[in-house]
Amino acid sequence: METRKVNLTFCTGVNTVTGANFLFAFGNRKILIDCGLEQGSTIASERNREDFSFEPKDIDTLLITHAHIDHIGRIPKLVKEGFKGTIYSTPATRDLAEVMLEDAVSILEEEARAQGVLPLYEPKDVKASFNLWKTIPYHTDFYLGDNVNVYLKDSGHILGAAMIELSFVGSKNPSSPQASKGQRKIVFTGDLGNSPSLFLRDTDPVTDATYLVMESVYGDRNHEPKEERTQRLAKIIKDCVARKRTLLIPAFSLERTQDILFEINGLVEREEIGPVNVFLDSPLGSKVTEIYKKYKSDFKDSAKELIGAGDDIFNFPKFKITVDRAQSENITRLPPPKIIIAGSGMSMGGRVARHERHYLPDPNTTILLVGYQAVGTRGRQIQEGSKYVTIDHEKIKVRAEVENIMGYSSHKDSDHLIEFVEQTAKNNKKVFVVMGEPKAELFLIQRLRDYLGVDAVNPKKGETVEIEL
Ligand SMILES: [Zn+2]
Repeated sequence: METRKVNLTFCTGVNTVTGANFLFAFGNRKILIDCGLEQGSTIASERNREDFSFEPKDIDTLLITHAHIDHIGRIPKLVKEGFKGTIYSTPATRDLAEVMLEDAVSILEEEARAQGVLPLYEPKDVKASFNLWKTIPYHTDFYLGDNVNVYLKDSGHILGAAMIELSFVGSKNPSSPQASKGQRKIVFTGDLGNSPSLFLRDTDPVTDATYLVMESVYGDRNHEPKEERTQRLAKIIKDCVARKRTLLIPAFSLERTQDILFEINGLVEREEIGPVNVFLDSPLGSKVTEIYKKYKSDFKDSAKELIGAGDDIFNFPKFKITVDRAQSENITRLPPPKIIIAGSGMSMGGRVARHERHYLPDPNTTILLVGYQAVGTRGRQIQEGSKYVTIDHEKIKVRAEVENIMGYSSHKDSDHLIEFVEQTAKNNKKVFVVMGEPKAELFLIQRLRDYLGVDAVNPKKGETVEIEL
């Protein structure tokens, strides 16, 4: 079989979870996979200001796995600096990316103002990015020219998330989907979902990847079992109603908010919990939820059946979306019991800050953490039991009860990452383990070598390797 040499460069997104950015280059073609922000305790670390390791104007194609900001957050910078090619993603990812980047640009402008520097990019750069954006449906061969075929598979991570499979099709009949059968392939996993999810389809199997470029966020850890998460949430809500308490849930606007709404909807529908006021106080979370409703065709069958039977899976009696600031402030005046879901998920910015300032000193409040809390964030301080936190330079006492449910992770854990690779182990030449902290990457590499005998490696930032496809 005829093969071609491709240079694969790991620009950023190695030895760290964020900043995914990989370059697939051959001949005159330069195809970029993801273009994410490197994040720390702020939305964007200083490293994002560095030049790209390539000329943006030389890139002809940008393929996007999913709409998390650590996979899309540097696209407007790429466009600002001369990229004029085409951006491709699934339709849902395109719509989600638009609201995520519109939100990010205003936070970046605020952060830049506070630091007395120019913002990384401006709203006009975000707008320009979407003029270049086209969509590709899941599970459809799409010809990129120069004999390159792209195929998007479900990653099961968030709505619209895809694994990107690239292969060279035969030169005689490049547009025939059949031409790609039996060819060598490289699969960029993006982030891999913790299937089964509440309502998204499972991660598609990958059985024929010659090369894998895979994430490893939880490469060294397994999750708590997720079976009990719904019952634990029900118990906390029942307790909130019975003791007339406020339940404050800081939640990521994308995916976690919809997970929680889906769960509460189910508990209400099944009459496992009684009626209680629930507020979604997150402008971004509300916009994202609307996009989820638009793309219900991307949900798994059991969720589609619920919708088909007339259930609005993200809506239930006594649920209210607060739009403007006045409505948000009104929540405080309403007597408990009540549930407030507000961004951001790690309590860095967003409307949750105002609620935390009010409710953290209140012993009649429970704060429920449902996601990963990074080191250096206020969410982490609350999780670790700090007696005080600082909000807008003010010291706030923490008297609220703190609860954690960690079963809602949207990433595969270590055992499931191994299972994922096992399916393709016999066809695999090399697994490039990326998008994890060094410890997680190295641990996963060792496990992949020991258990599956695959050639798993840890590329360095900026390293280029030659592969044959
Ligand atoms: Zn992600």
